Formats: sequence, structure tokens, C-alpha cells
Amino acid sequence: MISRIFYVLFIITPLLSFSQQKDSVLMKRLFNEALTHGESYTNLEYLSNKIGGRLAGSPQAAKAVEYCSKLLKTLNPDTVYLQECMVPHWVRGEKERAKIIGSKSAVEVKICALGGSVATPPSGIKAEVVEVKNFNELNALGKAGIEGKIVFFNRAFDPTAISTFEAYGKCVDQRWAGPSMAARLGAVATVCRSMTPDITDYPHTGSMGYNDSFPKIPCCAISTKDAELLSHQLKSDPKLKFWYRQTCKLLPEEKSFNVIAEIRGSVAPNEIITFGGHLDSWETGDGASDDGTGVVQSIEVIRLFRACGIKPKRTIRAVLFMNEENGTRGGKKYATEANEKHETHILALESDRGGFSPRGFSTDMPENKKQKVLSWKSLFLPYGIYDFTETGGGSDIEPLRKLMNVPLMELIPDCQRYFDVHHTPQDTFSRVSKRELELGGAAMASMIYLVSEYGL
Ligand SMILES: [Zn+2]
Repeated sequence: MISRIFYVLFIITPLLSFSQQKDSVLMKRLFNEALTHGESYTNLEYLSNKIGGRLAGSPQAAKAVEYCSKLLKTLNPDTVYLQECMVPHWVRGEKERAKIIGSKSAVEVKICALGGSVATPPSGIKAEVVEVKNFNELNALGKAGIEGKIVFFNRAFDPTAISTFEAYGKCVDQRWAGPSMAARLGAVATVCRSMTPDITDYPHTGSMGYNDSFPKIPCCAISTKDAELLSHQLKSDPKLKFWYRQTCKLLPEEKSFNVIAEIRGSVAPNEIITFGGHLDSWETGDGASDDGTGVVQSIEVIRLFRACGIKPKRTIRAVLFMNEENGTRGGKKYATEANEKHETHILALESDRGGFSPRGFSTDMPENKKQKVLSWKSLFLPYGIYDFTETGGGSDIEPLRKLMNVPLMELIPDCQRYFDVHHTPQDTFSRVSKRELELGGAAMASMIYLVSEYGL
């Protein structure tokens, strides 16, 4: 191991100052430890295969809280505690069913309810379909074109966008706001193309939000393969009908928790670095990539600090947030309490883009702080981590920025395969690579170490 460390030093020494040489040695130790004794993958297996999908309010979410809090205690941080928050409790009900009913024949298609949707009537809902690509097209049709119909939002991902998150950002409005936009014009239900660049056979769920000023109508996602089929059939048979049935419902709110662990700073304990992922997931898969990976990487950061004997100068705090997927109640509660206690948060870092090979960090902070982060970039280059161009943080830490102006970062892994599995039954443990996952945890630990050492 010593010779490897000297090799890295030999390669990068001419580019680094004395303190950076010390930091490069320490980072190498973090990466070596993660790649030889990393525990993220084993912990992810438990979370995914033994507990499974864990939507907020479910028994599985409660089990995940218990498991992670016990696990963190075994790593011997200075403190582990739960932070209570109330969460919505939405349940999917029976397997959803749908059919395209043409003038000559009917064909079954694959759908799933969007998270938060109301149920259809018990016998389902059946109506003619209007296909639109965006809200301008919807509004142009007006009440005359929409009333009594099912609106089919069919704007596809831009396959030429290299960042799949950019493509997602340009489509997700139809999933989130589409139902109320359509209800405003008298639609009886909506069907939304799944959020993925691929043409596949399974639908992608995800949250939606009703605007209370308009009727709450049922909404579902349709697989991209069936979205293509429906669009194709509408061209030759514009009077065809779409039927679907879903029995989802919203139950009373449940008590749940964020799970928090911290190692107190040895020099400036009042300066806090928050990092985390979200503990809840959709229940259609086992939530391995969204966001089991961010959870186990955050736990691993605590383990890596202990295993490598690092005493952080500033306080480092792992937060496993509850209810990111359908309410962000955990993130909001954490920020509200931090604000009420007048805590000083110098950085919040999230991992919620899957456990793929780390490629960089996004930033959302003033320019002088960003320059400080960029001054560390050369330390990350030996690990294939080079991209510091993206902006933004993550949904769970966004409330910290809004309430307290906390600088944000997000771990940016290679995102090409993320939307193959996002919010689907394909989001399973088997899709995660141990090596790529452990590299991500080491990258987070390295960034947190640098900020704990030098501030931000
Ligand atoms: Zn997520």
C-alpha cells in the first residue's frame, strides 16, 4: 500500500502544494479503505433485499429507520439520534390495469398510478384521449377540446441531452403539474409518458402535486413502449378510448424520522457539514439506486472517518432523510430545526443520483466558495472525478438553502443508466456495482474531509 501511495504522490506532486500533498495521501487512504474494506454494498443488500421498497409511512420505512440507526451506532460516532417528522402515507392498492379500446380491438397496456393520485371509480375510468406534448398545446385546445376526455402527456426525453437529469428536468412538469393543468380544462383523468429516454415495457412512477383550486382527477404513468403505441393508434383511430383502473389512496399521516449521526469537530464544532441521502423510496422496486446508494454512502463516510482515524476539525453530520419522494417532509423538518437552533451550516452535500462511478460534484454557492472548491479539483483527478460544472444540490438539502442560505453540493455520478431504473420495478440491488458504489462513498468522504479541514 505504501508503494502505491508514493506512486500517486510521484505522479501528482509537481502540481500540488505541501498541504495538498498531505491531503492527497489522506484521500488515497480513504479510497484504499473503501475499495478494500468498504461496507456500503453489504449494507445496501440488507436495505434492498431484506427491507425492500420503503415509501414514507410504510412498515418498511419504519424498519429502515431502525436498521440504519442501529447500524450507525455500531460505527461509534459521537452521537446517533432520530428526528421526528410527520409524513404522508399514500398506498398504491391493487395492481393497476389499463386498455386501449379501439374501434376494432382492445389491447392491455402497462401503467402505474402516480404517487399522490386519487383512485379511479371502482370500475375504472373510460374516455376519449387527447394527446399533447406540452401545456401550450393543452391550453390552445381549451375547454372545448379537453372537457370529458383523458389527457395524454407524451413529451419524450431529449435523447441528445448528454445529462439525463437535464432531459428529466425538461419533461417532469407534465408528470407533476399535468393533472391539475388538465383538470382546470375539464379533463377526467391523465396519462403521462414515463420519465426515461429508453423505450421499455415498464412504467415509471413518481410524485405529482394537485392544485387545490381544481378537481383532483386520477393520473397514471404509461410505459414508453405503450405511449408510442397509444400515440400511433390515435393517428389512425382518433376516437379510440382509454380505460384504466387504480385503487390507490391517501391514509392519515404517520409519524416517521430522519436518522442522524455526527462526529463533532475538534476545532470548530459549531461549524456543521451536513451530508446524506434519502431513506424512503418508491415501493415498485427495492429502492437500491433511489436512494439506497446515497444512504449507505453517507453511512460509509462515518465509517471511513473512524477507520482512517480522521478527527474532523469541523462537525460532520450524516442525515438519512425521510420522505423525499412524496413530500420532502424530512428535509423541511431538518432545515426548520437547524434554523430555529441558529446552527451554522457551512455545507450540505447530497447523494441522490444513483451509485454509479463518481464523476464530479455540483455546486450551488457564492462564487468565492465555488473557487475554493475548485482549488481542490486536482486532488480528485486521479480518481476520475473531474466535473465541477453542474449547478444545484438535492431536494432534501434545498430547504437549508432556502431558509439559511447554506452552500449546497451534490455527488455527480455517471448518469447514463440512472433513468433505466428510476422509480420502476427495475430499481433493484442487482443493478448496483460494488466498486462504483464504494468509489462514490470515498469521493464524498474526501470532499467532506477537505471542507472539515479548511472550511468553506
Ligand atoms: Zn431520490
